[in-house]
Amino acid sequence: MNQRESKSAIRKLLKDYGLRYSRPRASILSFFREADHHISAEDLHLTLKRRGERLSLSTVYLNLSVLTEAGLIRQLNGLTGEALYDSNVKPHYHLICKETGEVVDVPLPMIDGVPLPRFLKECIQEATGWQIDEPSLELRGLSPKVAKE
Ligand SMILES: [Zn+2]
Repeated sequence: MNQRESKSAIRKLLKDYGLRYSRPRASILSFFREADHHISAEDLHLTLKRRGERLSLSTVYLNLSVLTEAGLIRQLNGLTGEALYDSNVKPHYHLICKETGEVVDVPLPMIDGVPLPRFLKECIQEATGWQIDEPSLELRGLSPKVAKE
């Protein structure tokens, strides 16, 4: 996942998720497949522009929403509530730095051999009789880089 995937691999991936191939869609998806990113539509637009890709901001928005809907990327809210897009679609939590807005993935902690969200959900369901959705958790704080300053 760390090097650029071939055009045909991206084409196949889109097809596997029921999406039509288009150049903008492929550029955006390749970007997310290169490395783990948490990026806003505006920053993605700028990054692609710097790489010489000519996509309008509205095309970026549109394709981000299509890729999110299909489950190829996921959306989260950044420090000020802005939409960020995440290349990691496996279950994980986010640490968000209150100073810089940096977003870091953390794996789900386990409690008694059960992932924390399921543990929490089952615990609260048992206590209240409610049917509860998988809880999401976002942890804010200061990254070690900032805390040291
Ligand atoms: Zn993430």
